[in-house]
Amino acid sequence: MEPLLGGKSIDNSLCELVNEPLVILDVYGNILAHNRGFSEMLGTPSASYSGQNLRDIDLLTELWNSFLYFLNQSSEKKDRLIINNREFELTFHFIDSPRLGIISILFYDVTHFITIEKELLKRNKELMVINTLSGAFISSDEVETVLNDILEKVLMITDFPIGWIVLNEENVFRLRAHKGLSVRLQKGIEEGILNNIIFEVLESKEPLYILEGRDVQSVPLIKQDGIVFVGIVPLRISSSDVGVLFLGSRRERSFEFDLASMMSLVGNQISLILEKVRLFEETKRLSITDALTGLYNARFFYHSLDKEIERARRYSEHFSLVIFDIDDFKEINDTYGHQAGDDILREFARILLGYSRKTDIVARYGGEEFVIILPNTKKKEAFLLSDRIREQVCDYTFTCNGNDVKITISGGIAGFPNDGDDARKLLYAADMALYAAKRAGKKQVIMYDRSIQ
Ligand code: GH3
Ligand code: MG
Ligand code: MG
Repeated sequence: MEPLLGGKSIDNSLCELVNEPLVILDVYGNILAHNRGFSEMLGTPSASYSGQNLRDIDLLTELWNSFLYFLNQSSEKKDRLIINNREFELTFHFIDSPRLGIISILFYDVTHFITIEKELLKRNKELMVINTLSGAFISSDEVETVLNDILEKVLMITDFPIGWIVLNEENVFRLRAHKGLSVRLQKGIEEGILNNIIFEVLESKEPLYILEGRDVQSVPLIKQDGIVFVGIVPLRISSSDVGVLFLGSRRERSFEFDLASMMSLVGNQISLILEKVRLFEETKRLSITDALTGLYNARFFYHSLDKEIERARRYSEHFSLVIFDIDDFKEINDTYGHQAGDDILREFARILLGYSRKTDIVARYGGEEFVIILPNTKKKEAFLLSDRIREQVCDYTFTCNGNDVKITISGGIAGFPNDGDDARKLLYAADMALYAAKRAGKKQVIMYDRSIQ
């Protein structure tokens, strides 16, 4: 018998008026009618489902709970369902009135929109990555801070709890930032347990590398840390390998296209930031370095002197300032040529550096004048050191253009705070002491005292 609708029978041809898949059911879930779109949706274009129960159709079993819910609420309901790899938005509706007990379900194919939506979400996420990461550098100029900041953001974006960055420093891969690593694994990485993997990854020239399953088991420390999935992204600046980003997880991750594209995007962004950081460091280095000798330049010396005065004042400490000037350097230039003079300046700088402690600041102050800031050093100690340098330089034989050249130097010393409690006074005192040494016949070091005018 044909099912009835308000006294009229429903036949399938009525349903064909609707293009979207449509099914009509009674309150028990028995199918009263459906259109061809419904059969096509289920992958059986010519099959008829009339008389079957919704619960018995394999692809629609998930629908049953929604159907029951709808019957209870008696109000229009929307739902989503994936059938044969396509996503449908479902609308439940009572035909005519709930009293009649006839329900229609319309299936609207939203797969295309979902793809667009996902694509937009992905683009959005990518833009967020770019925005978030490119902000990292602008806010800080310390490499360690920048790297840790980047790493933290990367972990947040990619949803990994563990991560670390190793950077190539003269062919040694150093751990420069890490998060979520055990101390043991951290130490292991610093000792190079991952070097083989790193070289393999870099050699492969692949944009990404995944360690999971048995591969993870082969690195005992990673396994001991409970890490089961490691994503490895080479960091490259114009095709040279500058480092590697590692992302780790203690739960299995499925390596899908989205994760892969996110990881390479993140890798690219970090590489760009590293390039900026390197340029920045290089510019900074150049701006404080004397090109001929590689020592600090006068600008950096003034800056350091101010900082040292501030520090010594705060802690009520002493420090000394030494100025050296090469004696009769003009003659050296005149005799052996300017090039030879330059060689001597370079060699002299090397000797000065050899005598300095890590905390000392050695700078080229002017043409053939050099300064040393000796923190925590009284004038008398500074004198002993400076005089040793003077002696060593006088004994040293410089070679320029095949000539053996001897030079002598003079030096002046001033102590903070007794000889001057600001930069100008202190420099003046050291200069006065130097001129006193020159006047007294050169090749000597003199400590400033008030009798020097
Ligand atoms: P004094 O013992 O009084 O210091 O005599 P001096 O000849 O060293 O002093 P003066 O200041 O008259 O000359 C310094 C010379 O240093 C003059 C200049 O040609 C030379 N000089 C300065 N800068 C450089 C440099 O970068 N390279 C070379 N080769 N010579 C330089
Ligand atoms: Mg001079
Ligand atoms: Mg000189």
